[in-house]
Amino acid sequence: MFDIIRKSLATGIVTTDYPQTPAEVASQARGWPEIDFVKWRDARPAVAACPTGALACVDGGGTRTVKLDLAKCTFCGLCAEADTAIRMTNACELAARRKEDLLTTARYALGPAGAQGKLVATQRSPLATQPSNLDSIGTELKARIAKVLGRSLHIREVDAGSCNGCEIEIVGLNSPVYDIERFGIHFVASPRHADMLLVTGPVSRNMELALRKTYDATPDPRLVVAVGACGCSGGIFGQNYASLGGVDKVIPVDVYIPGCPPNPHALLHGILMAIGRLPEK
Ligand code: SF4
Repeated sequence: MFDIIRKSLATGIVTTDYPQTPAEVASQARGWPEIDFVKWRDARPAVAACPTGALACVDGGGTRTVKLDLAKCTFCGLCAEADTAIRMTNACELAARRKEDLLTTARYALGPAGAQGKLVATQRSPLATQPSNLDSIGTELKARIAKVLGRSLHIREVDAGSCNGCEIEIVGLNSPVYDIERFGIHFVASPRHADMLLVTGPVSRNMELALRKTYDATPDPRLVVAVGACGCSGGIFGQNYASLGGVDKVIPVDVYIPGCPPNPHALLHGILMAIGRLPEK
């Protein structure tokens, strides 16, 4: 026992200061694909390489419209391998309150042989241009939870057909490094004790009823956070005979956290953003 105490003292504090300090993410970590729209000459090879349909283009009326939907993106990097105008970032603070905020659109005049000519218009996801707003949320978090709820915040995790990649990252939230309990946030076993549902998976048809019942059993003000590409849009599975294509097809969602899987920083960012919605509820 004394050995363990000695080791613990020698190790010191390992818990991250996030969100008071920026997220420390490995340089090799995969975040969203960043596109240089000005230099982009032909979207078709990258669109053909994309396995999820997150990157898509439509030609018509002498123009090409290209869309990047982070709700569907698995951050696989195949588009960046196919096109030098795309690079993979390691940005992980990608949670959004509205699904539309995960969408980036660019419109080009069509050039010769189907190549892209002049860039006519872009509508970038606000995530690309807006800095994280978590500093204030992190600082005031405990006070805000206590003010709204009068106690700590409880989360029920619901696996609605996930591959368990997201669950592995969620388990990381309770590790000494991320230590989600420092915010007064705890995971609970019953939806009746929960304030927030953290839902993973594309929602398999077998889990639809269970998810509806879990939502109904959660008392107001209940928050729902859709986790990962599958939770946001159905991900690689999309909508098919076995998959409903995302959490918002079944219950209302307050915050979307893209990624495949989102790392613990990304999860913390999304959970804290959702808590920011509590006063509205
Ligand atoms: S990273 Fe993968 S899923 Fe995302 S747009 Fe590129 S090819 Fe598609």
